[in-house]
Amino acid sequence: MLGLVKAGVRGRPGVYRMISPDGEILYVGKAKNLRTRLLGYFRADFPAEKSARIIREAGEVQWDYHPSEFAALVQELRLIKKYRPRLNVMMKRDARHFAFIRITTGSAPKFMVVRGAGNDEHGTYFGPFHGAWQLEDALRELNDVLGLRDCRIDQPMHFSDQTEFPVGQPRTPGCIRFEIGKCLGPCVAGVSQRQYRARFTVARDFFEGRQDSPLETLRSAMEESSERMEFERAAQIRDKMQRLESLREQFERLRFAVESLTFVYTVPGHAGEDRSYLIRRGRIRGELPAPQSPDERTALASAAAEIFSPKELRSATVPAHEVDELMLLSSWFRKFPKELERTEPAAEFPRKRSA
Ligand code: SF4
Repeated sequence: MLGLVKAGVRGRPGVYRMISPDGEILYVGKAKNLRTRLLGYFRADFPAEKSARIIREAGEVQWDYHPSEFAALVQELRLIKKYRPRLNVMMKRDARHFAFIRITTGSAPKFMVVRGAGNDEHGTYFGPFHGAWQLEDALRELNDVLGLRDCRIDQPMHFSDQTEFPVGQPRTPGCIRFEIGKCLGPCVAGVSQRQYRARFTVARDFFEGRQDSPLETLRSAMEESSERMEFERAAQIRDKMQRLESLREQFERLRFAVESLTFVYTVPGHAGEDRSYLIRRGRIRGELPAPQSPDERTALASAAAEIFSPKELRSATVPAHEVDELMLLSSWFRKFPKELERTEPAAEFPRKRSA
């Protein structure tokens, strides 16, 4: 393998795949300078245990060149998602240290705090957030105020408008949330499916900044407690409100961050292979050679108008399959803020198209 690398790899950006003797893609990596990176694997003093393990298990290395480090980074992510190479998964440094709120599917959806976006390609996530504990606390308050369930995902449900009883336990053993008024009780016919879903929509709208009713409910309870001179209780409710307000502020910041990753980003490439990326809401929606002529500029403007013109809800939700790309783009521009100087606001493109 060393001979092949020495003889064949050029010093330019690219993506490499370490392959096992029986053809399994073990590891995918990217490099700004492929030659330096791959030769690094064979240096006796190479410090990382990770590299030693990769070389020990691999029988072959394959590589592709890409125009820039950014292009290589995007391709690395796509290949990792496609092949889920065993050693990448083990050595993962991705979104796992961030927390997300996952919306489960099923007859009575619920919110769950999870680390990383996992492999649920069909799920919907809010996030990423720092601080899983605070997130869980705030979510507990919201569930209590709105009466949403927080039990096991596979808990059997029995709605009031359902005629047949499900097989299995009527409720999570020991769960008293229905009795104390903290859950609508979709497991014990305490609510119809439509009513439960309507309440769940209130929670989503609260996250999206579209309505305030959970805070208003708490505010009324706090005022009533104060009027009854129950000051300790009023102070507890005030703390709950603060947790919810802080959660909502995080959502607002998140919406802004996702929305601000919307532009055309032109990246200089190796030997003039410059590329323009059309990025909307933290996801690369299109990619073209960077325009060198008025005709090419018109083509880019036309592609941009198609991508940026359709209305999309300003939301903090991110489909699962887009989370990794959002994380990649946000960390790229955080690490290299000067790269933002290469971006052009999306709003300029429809104008340029008609000029
Ligand atoms: S009352 Fe039923 S639905 Fe609500 S949290 Fe408890 S087990 Fe889940």
